Amino acid sequence: MTSTRVLVLNSGSSSLKYQLLDMSDGARLAVGLVERIGEENSRLKHEPLTGGGELREEFGPIADHDAALKAVAAELSKDKLGLDSPELAAIGHRVVHGGQTFTQPTVIDDEVLAEIERLIPVAPLHNPANLTGIRTAQALRPDLPQVAVFDTAFHTTMPESAARYAIDVKTADEHRIRRYGFHGTSHAYVSRKTAELLGKDPSEVNVIVLHLGNGASASAVRGGVCVDTSMGLTPLEGLVMGTRSGDLDPAVIFHLMRVGGMSADEIDNLLNKKSGLIGLCGDNDMREIRRRVDEGDQEAQLAFDVYIHRLKKYIGAYSAVLGRVDAIAFTAGVGENAAPVREAAVAGLEELGLAVDGELNSVRSDEPRLVSPEYARVAVAVVPTDEELEIATQTYALVRTPHA
Ligand code: AMP
Repeated sequence: MTSTRVLVLNSGSSSLKYQLLDMSDGARLAVGLVERIGEENSRLKHEPLTGGGELREEFGPIADHDAALKAVAAELSKDKLGLDSPELAAIGHRVVHGGQTFTQPTVIDDEVLAEIERLIPVAPLHNPANLTGIRTAQALRPDLPQVAVFDTAFHTTMPESAARYAIDVKTADEHRIRRYGFHGTSHAYVSRKTAELLGKDPSEVNVIVLHLGNGASASAVRGGVCVDTSMGLTPLEGLVMGTRSGDLDPAVIFHLMRVGGMSADEIDNLLNKKSGLIGLCGDNDMREIRRRVDEGDQEAQLAFDVYIHRLKKYIGAYSAVLGRVDAIAFTAGVGENAAPVREAAVAGLEELGLAVDGELNSVRSDEPRLVSPEYARVAVAVVPTDEELEIATQTYALVRTPHA
C-alpha cells in the first residue's frame, strides 16, 4: 500500500489544530482542534470529511499536549483514520521560528530539535509549544518521518539590506536580532497561486502579498523569492493588526517605562494584546468594525483609517522595493472577505497602476480570483490562503524524495 496521507499539526501554547490530508489528490480527510489545553473545560472539535462520519465535540479537562494528541488519535481511529494506519506517510509540524538556520522544510532529528530549542529566546511564546507537539507526536509514532515547516523559512532569502536593523552589529549578532518575518507558508503559497492566476511561472512575476488576518503581514516577492517583509524579530512589527500595534517609534517603550512606570512585561502585553484595532476602538473583528463604521461610529472609523493608512504605506514601500509590481494579492480572514478594506487600500493609487472593479470586488468566493479591471496595469488578486495544504505539500515532497 502506498502511504499518501499527511497529518498536519499546529501546536499553540494552549491549543492543537490538525488536519489529515491525502496527498494523492489533496483531499482533506479530517480537520479539528483542541482548545484550552491545561484547563478544566478543554474542548475537542473533530470533523471527519470522509466516510460519512459526523462532527463531534467533547468537553472536559485535557491536561497537556500529550493528552490532546492522544485524544485526537482516538477520534481519528473511530473514523478508521488512526495514526497507526500504514497509509500515513508523515506528520508535518508548523514551527514558528527557524531563525537563520532553517531555510527549508526539514526532517526532524535530535539535532533539529536542539536547534528549535536554541531558538526559544527569539520565540518564547511559540517554539516551546511547537516542540511539545513534535515530541508528543514522536512518542506516538517513533517510526514515522516528522517534518518541521518553518514560518520564517520563506523569508530567509531577504537581502541583508532588508533583514538588518540599523543598530550596532555586534549587539544585534550577539542576540540574533534581525528581521525574520512570519506567515511564510502563507506568503509562499499565495505568491505562487497568484502567478498561477496570471498564467505565469512564479519566476516571472513580482507580487506584493498582504496577509490580513488577526495577525497581519506584507511581503515583497520578486520572481518567487521574498525580498522584504513587514514582521521582524517577532510578529509585532509592521501592519496594524487585530490586537498588535505594528510599527511604532521604539522610544514609546522607554517613555512608557520612564514616565508611565510600566514594566517590560506590561508593555509587551499592551503592544501585543491590547493595541492595533482593539486598542483603537475596542473591537478586533473587521466585520464588527465595518458595521460600526456604517452606523457612523467615529472610533471605529478612526481604527479603520489607521489600518488602511498603514496598508497603503506598505503597498507604496514595496512597490519601490520591487520596482515593477505585477500583482497585489489579498489573503487571510480580512483580505479574503472584507471588500471595503481591499477597495480602500488601493483607492487613490491609480498612479501606481492599481484599481479594483467594484462589482468583481464584491463577489464572495472561495476561489482565487482577480478583482481589478482589465485596464489596470497591476492585477489585484484575492487568494484564499491554505497553510495546512502548503505544510502537507512541503512535508510530502520531502518524505517522498530520498534525502541524506
Ligand atoms: P484569520 O486570522 O486569517 O483567521 O482572520 C481572522 C479575522 O478575519 C477576524 O478577526 C476578522 O477580523 C476577519 N474576518 C473574518 N471574516 C470576515 C468577514 N466576512 N468580513 C470581514 N472580516 C472578516
